[in-house]
Amino acid sequence: MIKKDIGFILKRFNFRETSVIATIYLHNFGKIKGIFKGFYRQKKEFSTPLDVFSLNEFVFYPKQSEIWLVSQAELISGFSYLRNNLEKAAVAGFIFNLLDKTMQLWDKNKYIFNLTFHSIRLIENDHQKAFYLFLIKFLTLAGIKPELNHCIVCQKLIKGSLFFSTKRGGLLCRDCRKNYKDYKPLSQEASKTFSYIQNNSIAAASRIRLSLRCQNEISQIIQKFLTYHFDFSQKGPGFKLIA
Ligand SMILES: [Zn+2]
Repeated sequence: MIKKDIGFILKRFNFRETSVIATIYLHNFGKIKGIFKGFYRQKKEFSTPLDVFSLNEFVFYPKQSEIWLVSQAELISGFSYLRNNLEKAAVAGFIFNLLDKTMQLWDKNKYIFNLTFHSIRLIENDHQKAFYLFLIKFLTLAGIKPELNHCIVCQKLIKGSLFFSTKRGGLLCRDCRKNYKDYKPLSQEASKTFSYIQNNSIAAASRIRLSLRCQNEISQIIQKFLTYHFDFSQKGPGFKLIA
């Protein structure tokens, strides 16, 4: 059955002389692989350069096999600001690479699609905020939330100074700190910012102010979580921005 949907090009490569195979993240179908037969024959059905990062509307034929035939593609937005700014492109590249590495084929998630769309748009004005907003919300959706209210070991409510264990993924109380070594102080600002982004809409979260110190603290937590839960390299281009 023929279907229509919008989606981002995560990656692409040329196939034989005239065709393209692309990994696409679709709003309703999740991640798919599509073949664009005769793409380089200037067919009128393909009115898009199929650039990585671009948002397009596709007409395609879902099936059981891994690669789906895409018969039409039309450009919606190429996000031109990603093509003339290396830092902005690096953030988009990190987001798309993470989606490609962590999403299974056909695993649909409209919330992650919308988060991706808003984050890519936010990159135009504030690429660092877009980076943190995407990652905190993405991890939360994946069920990976740092514990920022109670002690991760004994569940006691934390009062006063905060000490965060990245290995355990949460705060440690005064008593439990005696038994563990791997913790670092966490500022109230970073803890509140993390919780605010987790618990508020994308629109509200995108208005938050992020100080450099706060970015550094959050970045350390996120890097550890990505490595631990997804085996995702810490050397992504996004983290170089704030290293
Ligand atoms: Zn404790």
